[in-house]
Amino acid sequence: MNIHEYQAKQLLRSYGAPVSDGRVVLRAEEAKTAAGALDGPLWVVKAQIHAGGRGKGSFKESDAGEKGGIRLAKSVEEAADEAKKMLGKTLVTHQTGPSGKQVGRIYIEEGSDIERELYLALLVDRVSSRISFVCSTEGGMDIEEVAASTPEKILSFPVDPATGYQPFHGRRIAFALGLSGQQVKQCVKLMGILYNAFVEKDMEMLEINPLIVTDKGDLKVLDAKLGFDSNALYRQADVAELRDETEEDPKELQASKYDLNYIALDGEIGCMVNGAGLAMATMDIIKLYGAEPANFLDVGGGATKEKVTEAFKIITSDKNVKGILVNIFGGIMRCDVIAEGVIAAVKEVGLEVPLVVRLEGTNVEQGKTLINESGLNVIAADSLSDGAQKIVKEVKG
Ligand code: GDP
Ligand code: MN
Repeated sequence: MNIHEYQAKQLLRSYGAPVSDGRVVLRAEEAKTAAGALDGPLWVVKAQIHAGGRGKGSFKESDAGEKGGIRLAKSVEEAADEAKKMLGKTLVTHQTGPSGKQVGRIYIEEGSDIERELYLALLVDRVSSRISFVCSTEGGMDIEEVAASTPEKILSFPVDPATGYQPFHGRRIAFALGLSGQQVKQCVKLMGILYNAFVEKDMEMLEINPLIVTDKGDLKVLDAKLGFDSNALYRQADVAELRDETEEDPKELQASKYDLNYIALDGEIGCMVNGAGLAMATMDIIKLYGAEPANFLDVGGGATKEKVTEAFKIITSDKNVKGILVNIFGGIMRCDVIAEGVIAAVKEVGLEVPLVVRLEGTNVEQGKTLINESGLNVIAADSLSDGAQKIVKEVKG
């Protein structure tokens, strides 16, 4: 789960990280009061969406102005004005995709004078199985670009879980970033703060781009992106409260309410599968036969008829779906339950695209009988590759 920049900064501030003072604005009327509560002479007005690259992004609506989603203002009035222009408009960045994201919240912050822009992240490194600091002197810009063209400028410092964070980690990072004097001390302290927050709050990712050196020579967190492990949210009630459902894919949101493992993709074949491994294999084989999956969906082992019905409804609600492949290998999951769910869903929402069903395993005969007697227009398949070939043929003609 991701949160907004202003929420991330509030959280990091509570751990003692240096961030600017700021106010969030949800409605245009609040903009002036918010900006007025902050000290000048510089204000930064920042569109809050769960995507990066806001500064270099652009708005779809012309009345939002030509500038991107991060704007500098020299007066309270100007700051309020910029906030009003961006609220409710659609911001497109290289991370949002062409459809962009609607801006429902604006963060107004006291502006900083920047001497240097650095990059810092904390993540779970799956190769070393450790939490790792990742840093670069090339902050502020596109880190993916730095990684592609000058990978030697990105350095990684894994932390041994047996010792946890130690001051030497902070010193190494400070030297790698070219810091000196008081900045080294500040860096050692800040890295400890970030590491603690990361572990205590069950984060998956923490990215500060840029971490700046101000004109006075101090370190400051200028941008912050935090991602949390969704499986740990049950013990992070305060984090769970920060969820902004308007930022999520509506289909994924609906799926999460029914405890379905669903990820929206942009292909044309909807998949309903049980088991994450089989779901991956199904996506692979669809690609092998020349089409693209519209989603990843694992209905899980103990899915009920209701859950299967909901899953089917989510798949059919996707306008890109030109055909559906149900691929069930019933071990714990029973084939007759899947069949009942599919039949119930089709009765409720109708079936406007071809449907290929491959059932195998527990209660397979009952499952097949249910589908055959349902009167549904279903194409039966005998194996994974047979099913994939049949649905690709239906969709591609
Ligand atoms: P992003 O584009 O979504 O990554 O948003 P950021 O918060 O990282 O802001 C983008 C850029 O705007 C930064 O790299 C800075 O160059 C600039 N910026 C953001 N805040 C300030 C500020 O307080 N003062 C100044 N001078 N520039 C800022
Ligand atoms: Mn940034």
